[in-house]
Amino acid sequence: MALIVQKFGGTSVADIDKIKNVAQKAIREKKAGNKVVVVLSAMAGETDRLIALAHKAADSPDPREYDSLISTGEQVTVTLLSIVLNSMGHPARSFLGFQVKILTDKAYKKARIVSIDTEEIKKELKKGRIVVVAGFQGVDDDNNITTLGRGGSDTSAVALAAALKADQCDIYTDVDGVYTTDPNVCDKARRLDKISYDEMLEMAMTGAKVLQPRSVEMAKKYNVPVYVKSTFSEEGGTLVTKEDKDMEKEVVSGITYDRDQAKITVVHVPDKPGIAAALFTPLSEQNISVDMIIQNASLEGHTDLTFTVSKKDLKDAQKIVNSAAKKIGAKKVEVDDDVAKISIIGVGMASHSGVAATMFKTLADEGINIMMISTSEIKISCVIQRKYTELAVTVLHNAFGLEKKK
Ligand code: ASP
Ligand code: MG
Repeated sequence: MALIVQKFGGTSVADIDKIKNVAQKAIREKKAGNKVVVVLSAMAGETDRLIALAHKAADSPDPREYDSLISTGEQVTVTLLSIVLNSMGHPARSFLGFQVKILTDKAYKKARIVSIDTEEIKKELKKGRIVVVAGFQGVDDDNNITTLGRGGSDTSAVALAAALKADQCDIYTDVDGVYTTDPNVCDKARRLDKISYDEMLEMAMTGAKVLQPRSVEMAKKYNVPVYVKSTFSEEGGTLVTKEDKDMEKEVVSGITYDRDQAKITVVHVPDKPGIAAALFTPLSEQNISVDMIIQNASLEGHTDLTFTVSKKDLKDAQKIVNSAAKKIGAKKVEVDDDVAKISIIGVGMASHSGVAATMFKTLADEGINIMMISTSEIKISCVIQRKYTELAVTVLHNAFGLEKKK
């Protein structure tokens, strides 16, 4: 008897018929002799709707109330699925985050899971029930409801799988796996049978929407095998797992893009100790993450500092940077949100040379200017003009031979 965690995204629970389809998938695993825990998102579009309501109610909604509100979408789907399962003769029970006790820190909108109490769930499983848990939500140690950030039910599922020592975590979604790149942008995109945690993490962090980055981090940490599967087809699937020898042979496994970036340049800042800290400390205090950072070599004691933030943080970041720039005596602050970040990812990159050169040459051949570059051991990212996103992805996909079945 195995313990399986199944997670279904918003499009898989978008209406009652779809919820009945989800019920069938849970029942099938149950009938095969497994213990089943199902984690659900809200119905497609529901979390967006709730967020819009909050912002209609107030310009900056109170964060505690905001999290309570936007967590309600999942209450609807878990209870509906349990109602359906029970009516079909398969005993089931729904649980909200606080009922399980998915304990998080206090960071509203992006809370981190601290611990999960598995006692209740195990009791229910022992009784032969299917357990249905609301994704995306938890509770802090003062009993406030918290949410885990957009796409957070992936993280709920992997965290539950880790805490329950599940044999498998299946993430059901509207695509049939992880692709070399977005098939909507490049028609040569190919589904991967498996991908390493590290590659998946880089892909998720640089724009692949299929899994929330935190869920991959968690899967890697606790060695949870994650299958990305389609709710609507039996075909395909991608296993996210530990790196193996085959994976190292691939120089580049995937290409991602992120059009949600904005570039901020602080022009003519004095080149002396404490300047970067003066800029980035107030940003971090406001929970604004900075992605790429470039500082030019200094000329006559002055330098330019360029970095990127998420578009949603741009307004706040601009305010903070403007005031910090004044304090440190910078000349001016320039902003460009007409950019995109293109990344190539592959564990084989660490042991192959010439990968960066191929990337730069491929972009240059198309007349695409590179504004910023950043690298990790298994990733190279370039910031380019937004209008070249599709072109860059397509030519890079071709240049690294990703369309070919290997
Ligand atoms: N419903 C939440 C969202 O839309 C969580 C999730 O879908 O994973 O972000
Ligand atoms: Mg999702």
